[in-house]
Amino acid sequence: MTKEITKLSKEKGIIYEFNKENTPIERVTPGTTVAIETYDCFEDQIQSEDTVIDKIDWNRINPATGPIYIEGAEPGDILKVKIEKIDINDQGVMAVVPELGVMGDSLEKMEAKIMKIKDDKVLFNGVEAPLTKMIGVIGVAPEGEGVNCGTPGAHGGNMDTTLVKEGATLYFPVATEGALFALGDLHAAMGDGEGSGSGVEIAGEVTVTFDVIKGEKIEQPMLENKDSFSQIASAETLDEATKMATTLMIERIAEKSGRPISEVTMLMSMNAQLEVGQVVNPLKTARLVVPKWLLKQLDINLIEQ
Ligand code: CA
Ligand code: ZN
Repeated sequence: MTKEITKLSKEKGIIYEFNKENTPIERVTPGTTVAIETYDCFEDQIQSEDTVIDKIDWNRINPATGPIYIEGAEPGDILKVKIEKIDINDQGVMAVVPELGVMGDSLEKMEAKIMKIKDDKVLFNGVEAPLTKMIGVIGVAPEGEGVNCGTPGAHGGNMDTTLVKEGATLYFPVATEGALFALGDLHAAMGDGEGSGSGVEIAGEVTVTFDVIKGEKIEQPMLENKDSFSQIASAETLDEATKMATTLMIERIAEKSGRPISEVTMLMSMNAQLEVGQVVNPLKTARLVVPKWLLKQLDINLIEQ
């Protein structure tokens, strides 16, 4: 039996800000699978390397397709989003911009490079790099004020986290009725940190399945893949983000397992990986990655469902 998939085109609606006042462009029930078409982070404005900085409309950056209203999602719930598939177009673009990214103060002018995608490789000046397809911007409406799509936070948003790829499942704290989910900013390839401030930016289509989890609370997004569970966190500095991700995860494991913080701290120090999401957005993103074998031995589920 083939599962029915709802199609959502990028022409139907995009947002530049995650905001609970946004009007949904689609309504779905939990269990629905949706194929969401996306622009690249420049809203497809850079189609050639001659594009100059003052020709780009910088108000049209990081569009996310949506928002999608998920029936039954209420504040305090968790929105579960399984990433079934990421399809990308055959051409991406990467840019360096003065004052942007780790090397921003060494760059004199904006340069954009068009990169063809061929046989699952990114072609760049004689280099053939493997695809590491991922989603940069993904999230729900935040509590309180809106957050522009260039900034990450408790609601998700511009987390630019390489683990957000095919097969991963994301968990977001729902802050408003219907959650108001949106995504965009696909990358054909990106390394942890996103040093230049951009990945191989590309348009495409992402297929996701939604579910709503009641009776469990999270403060920042969590991510599950085949072998691990991650606590993601974004904050003003990378130091704060690493502390938040670590603390939230250790407190959760201590609570679920009934073991003291000191013991869980030792277990994490022994077995968990503290990794960098990105260091180039207004808030920085880190994660603590815990192997599933450990959770199994502790006999706990981080999110009961
Ligand atoms: Ca991004
Ligand atoms: Zn991007």
